[in-house]
Amino acid sequence: MSTASLPIDFADVAAAAERLRGVAHRTPVRTSRTVDERSGATVYFKCENFQRMGAFKFRGAYNALARLTPGQRRMGVIAYSSGNHAQAVALSARLLQVPSVIVMPHDAPASKLAATRAYQSGMPGSEVVLYDRYSEDREAIGRRIAEERGMTLIPPFDHADVMAGQGTAALELIEDVGALDALLVCVGGGGLVSGCAVAAFARSPGATVWGVEPEAGNDVQQSLARGEIVRIETPQTIADGAQTQACGRLTFPVMRALVKGVLTVSDAQLVGTMRFFAERMKMVVEPTGCLAAAALIEGVIDLRGQRVGVIVSGGNVDLPRYAQLLQS
Ligand SMILES: *Cc1c(COP(=O)(O)O)cnc(C)c1O
Repeated sequence: MSTASLPIDFADVAAAAERLRGVAHRTPVRTSRTVDERSGATVYFKCENFQRMGAFKFRGAYNALARLTPGQRRMGVIAYSSGNHAQAVALSARLLQVPSVIVMPHDAPASKLAATRAYQSGMPGSEVVLYDRYSEDREAIGRRIAEERGMTLIPPFDHADVMAGQGTAALELIEDVGALDALLVCVGGGGLVSGCAVAAFARSPGATVWGVEPEAGNDVQQSLARGEIVRIETPQTIADGAQTQACGRLTFPVMRALVKGVLTVSDAQLVGTMRFFAERMKMVVEPTGCLAAAALIEGVIDLRGQRVGVIVSGGNVDLPRYAQLLQS
């Protein structure tokens, strides 16, 4: 098995780690005796809910923006996102003094909208453009604005620099805790899991990488089974960061080569895991951020006796919504 034919390799992840040094947080790794006892495994949570802007997406966005030419930086960047990628691009653009246009669904969590606008404030040529996620095609809107304004489109997952940047989360985890037997990673479009799988393949080759999707939106599980990218309707799930209809043309071959399989969890299992993180580990984790942990905590997969890495992908959730979910 070689990664030579894949869209990214370990050198790309290592180069991203250099670019992110001193800019991204090296997020903490947390453990829980309760989780270890219940699962029979030794579990390491890589807590990207403590990353800048509250999710791992900062890694990929900053890595992609840092690689733009001076000319591209002057014209600015555009991104479409249901939330965290928006904030990640807006913050990275601000840090690198690049104008940004962010295309967001009109029903995106208010906290994510507000945070994105706050990162753009005082940056000339920067704005949020809203669209309807059930009737409009955000990719088409993004492409049109990119053409009209000469901006560089930064996709949320299907981009080599984005994937490589996301992989630095797993790289840090393995550097900090040593080799793993298994790594659980949530899957939306597959940027995070593909970068992490490339890092694990190089630095912990014995590790089995599992993706975790919402039950309502298991397009990657279907795609891996079918051997081709399967497109689904926008899934109705509380995991708003994983409401993707299809994975990417670049992420798919990486997942196919390096991801053992995809597990699914229900919204109820996500809520159970959110509650566990709040009560036991004192962490606010958004529903999508609970996907990977839920597979283990809710007993979807048995990893008894193994050293297991779990990526906790983000913590951005409107507090009223969070409170409502915890009461359900
Ligand atoms: C974007 C996102 C995901 C999904 O990541 P992909 O790279 O699209 O697979 C998972 N969790 C959170 C918190 C996210 O913001």
